[in-house]
Amino acid sequence: MIERTLVLIKPDGVARGLIGECVKRFEQRGLKVVGMKMIRPDAKLVGDHYTDDLEWLTSVGRKTKVSYEKKGMKMDKPDVEIGRYVRKWLMDYLASGPVVALVLEGHHAVEIARKLCGDTEPRVALPGTIRGDLSVESYMIGDEKQRPVKNVVHASGSVKEAESEMKVWFSENELCSYERVDWAAIH
Ligand code: ADP
Repeated sequence: MIERTLVLIKPDGVARGLIGECVKRFEQRGLKVVGMKMIRPDAKLVGDHYTDDLEWLTSVGRKTKVSYEKKGMKMDKPDVEIGRYVRKWLMDYLASGPVVALVLEGHHAVEIARKLCGDTEPRVALPGTIRGDLSVESYMIGDEKQRPVKNVVHASGSVKEAESEMKVWFSENELCSYERVDWAAIH
């Protein structure tokens, strides 16, 4: 099942010189880079990416709470409220420096890219994943510093999300079609 997905190397990944390291991991797993650009996003672009969507806000808040509870800590705020302040932080953060946007194509591209990124919270992300190998960040550090968790990359969470996110960052004529010579050996 050939899919396309959107990946962002976030400002922390770019500033730390991790562009090549991230791209390498996606390429060597067998995903084809069909779109790539560096961009300094403005507030509108970032707002179009992290939309003010109740489902997303609730899911971000819930994930944070579960992680706190697993560590024996309690968070009393409603999920949506946590989601709202994370969105505000994220919008400021993503617009704070250059981002590298990628469209990756391949079998199960959405699922594979997401797995290569690892858990949202690098503290619990498995070694072997981008976040698990390249960051020690946690929700607690983010909270303490009043900023989002710096976790190097973003990857679309579903095929539907990938479709809308690709449209936010790329126009159709910015995506390229070409053959990878190792394709036949991989598949
Ligand atoms: P993912 O990027 O893994 O899909 P989410 O969509 O849930 O994760 O969250 C988007 C981004 O918001 C995360 O990658 C992370 O940078 C940041 N983030 C999420 N929850 C929190 C939180 N509780 N505190 C700080 N930053 C957060």
